[in-house]
Amino acid sequence: MATTVTTVTPLQIDASRIRDTLLTGSRFLLTSHARPDGDSLGSQLCLAAALRQLGKQVRIVNADPAPESYAFLPDLATIEIAASVEDTVDAVVVLECSSLDRTGVGGLERQTLLNIDHHLGNAMYGAINWHDVSACACAELVSDLIEALGVDLTPAMATQLYVAILTDTGSFRHANITARTFEICRRVAATGVNPATIAAQVYNNGSVGRLRATGMLLGQMRLEHDNQIAVLTLTDAMLAEAGCEPDDLEGIVNMPLGARDVQAVIFLKESGSELRVSLRSKDAVDIRQVAVSYGGGGHRNASGFTVDHPPTGTREEVINRVAGVIPQP
Ligand code: AMP
Ligand code: MN
Repeated sequence: MATTVTTVTPLQIDASRIRDTLLTGSRFLLTSHARPDGDSLGSQLCLAAALRQLGKQVRIVNADPAPESYAFLPDLATIEIAASVEDTVDAVVVLECSSLDRTGVGGLERQTLLNIDHHLGNAMYGAINWHDVSACACAELVSDLIEALGVDLTPAMATQLYVAILTDTGSFRHANITARTFEICRRVAATGVNPATIAAQVYNNGSVGRLRATGMLLGQMRLEHDNQIAVLTLTDAMLAEAGCEPDDLEGIVNMPLGARDVQAVIFLKESGSELRVSLRSKDAVDIRQVAVSYGGGGHRNASGFTVDHPPTGTREEVINRVAGVIPQP
């Protein structure tokens, strides 16, 4: 007689332990990283809606408000902005955060933490850690979780999931896009939401200030190492002249990759004594190594770090380190 052996992977065990904790408890707090992006917002809002369908009490607390372009997201106004939380809940779900301090929200460390993330180098700070680097967005894990919880995918939740996947995959261009990604998108479309409408809300909705700042950034771009490295520099003075906020500039860092020769982009954001650096690269270039060498992190082709009071020569050193990770024929 044939026997069927079903292999349960450690990831599935972590996911089902998280599902069980959510089914058992009644009061939850959801959070994600400071300076939220489409994946952090969409993942939190969708999971919150699922838990509310199950009759649970849910608060979402973030350190920073959402960028203006996400104002259309269903239920966005339910996200509370606070630097710390006082009340104790059955569990805190931390989405999209490789370390707890990336939340920018205090008072979480003494609570039961459920860590759900897809970034490389997660610090495994949770009571349960569901860390799946094969997911193209944290929203893929949220989608699996809501299926496991047995709740319906409403059009509002489908919109939240789709925004997360659309933005975290760079409009379906990054690595880690799989059949699973499109299966989730199929379920999204089946709820009746229109992917083109959502894309227009995300991408055709920027400020004129963003357009002006884009012109300045590209006008002052430096191309180094035989055009392989593009360097963009943003200062507070440029933001003031363009009339926009740093959050208005999401995605611009990717523009230079549209040129065949450019293999990596260094986006230097100078604000007061702080230098924030966003790094992007084409598939063959593991740019994350450079971010990690400065105490940051992220993904192979999209990562970042921050230096306070950068010593003279830091910018040139970053360019040299990036040059060092570009494979030469
Ligand atoms: P950004 O360039 O800010 O859009 O960030 C790109 C990726 O790098 C995201 O996945 C971030 O989570 C990650 N990242 C950016 N800054 C840091 C940091 N200081 N530490 C760890 N990861 C970071
Ligand atoms: Mn993400």
